[in-house]
Amino acid sequence: MDIDRDRIDQWMTENPVLMDAMDSLSMTIRLMQEHRIGALLVVEKQELVGVFTERDLLSLVEKLSDGDLLQQPIADFMTQKPITVNFDESFSAVYMKMRVNNIRHIPVLNGSDLVGIVSLRDLAEFYEKRIESDLEKNRLQVEQLRRFFDLTENHEGEKILAELERLEELSLTDFLTGLYNMRYLNARLTEELERAKRHQAHLCVIFCDIDFFKQVNDRYGHQFGDFVLKEIGQLLVSKVDDIKIIARLRKSDVVARYGGEEFVVILPETSKKNALEVAERMRQAIAEHHFQSHGKSVNVTMSFGVAEYPKDSLDRDSLVQCADLAMYKAKKSGRNRVVAFASDSTSPAGDTRLRLVAVG
Ligand code: GH3
Ligand code: MG
Ligand code: MG
Repeated sequence: MDIDRDRIDQWMTENPVLMDAMDSLSMTIRLMQEHRIGALLVVEKQELVGVFTERDLLSLVEKLSDGDLLQQPIADFMTQKPITVNFDESFSAVYMKMRVNNIRHIPVLNGSDLVGIVSLRDLAEFYEKRIESDLEKNRLQVEQLRRFFDLTENHEGEKILAELERLEELSLTDFLTGLYNMRYLNARLTEELERAKRHQAHLCVIFCDIDFFKQVNDRYGHQFGDFVLKEIGQLLVSKVDDIKIIARLRKSDVVARYGGEEFVVILPETSKKNALEVAERMRQAIAEHHFQSHGKSVNVTMSFGVAEYPKDSLDRDSLVQCADLAMYKAKKSGRNRVVAFASDSTSPAGDTRLRLVAVG
């Protein structure tokens, strides 16, 4: 069964509970309790104008003793112009939209007619369980295969590897590191750029590539190489977590494995100056870490490139390319360093502690 291509209307709840925009907050809460639902759709002259979810309700908790507030129309509290999907969009496209936008309920339309609602819970449980179990099954086979490949040419093995790639394609996470994959990164970056555009905010992308990683594989074996990749993923995530705490950024998981030994980090609402500092901390954390497993121990370094929206590019793919280009310059100028795209004042002059090199 290929649910990823299923139309979403096979998964939605038809006849969702509707509120009129002028209905009161107290009535809305009562309906949510009665029907045990997490979201209500708000309509005006039969047209969808908003959603009100349990998250909105939670944000009001402290004010709920105020009787006047409870009598106000729900239109005052709802999310206006909510994200919607069309009934013929695919299961995986809708699931993706929810994950990327961090929302849990999506109204389903047929043109401008409201035809239902889907919740993340409905989709996620099924989707994640299936992908997890498929990946687990394949993971074991792939490990066996890698060993087998060393000895012989095996066509069955290639088929299974192809199947694994297909599954990974469908999922949003990278099976080796557990980080997000390139598919998610691209979707998320598109969303974040739109958000940055709306709020006239900065956004930075960091492109990271391990130095001389081939030598690590050659010297210590592919399995050890995989172990290093996993640990590097964790180190990068932990550095972003530090930053999130310091800068109080919106919770945004933004580290992705871009390809083999390349990672990309998105930093929303971050200037290039701050992004360079984040990258520098990542560089240090990795350079100082001893990668140890099965009696083997190695140190590795990484090169970083940083690019900024809107200064370096307005476009998603070329923004990543700018960061990649800067990373390439970091390699050229000696590796184990952070390089900013563009040759202006973004490199803090005289600060030799940050080994930054500005490029044109
Ligand atoms: P540079 O400093 O120029 O980046 O050198 P490098 O050796 O890291 O770069 P190159 O692009 O020549 O090689 C990348 C290597 O990454 C090739 C391959 O051995 C390794 N690699 C890519 N994906 C994986 C993976 O999933 N697991 C392991 N163990 N190694 C991988
Ligand atoms: Mg590379
Ligand atoms: Mg490399």
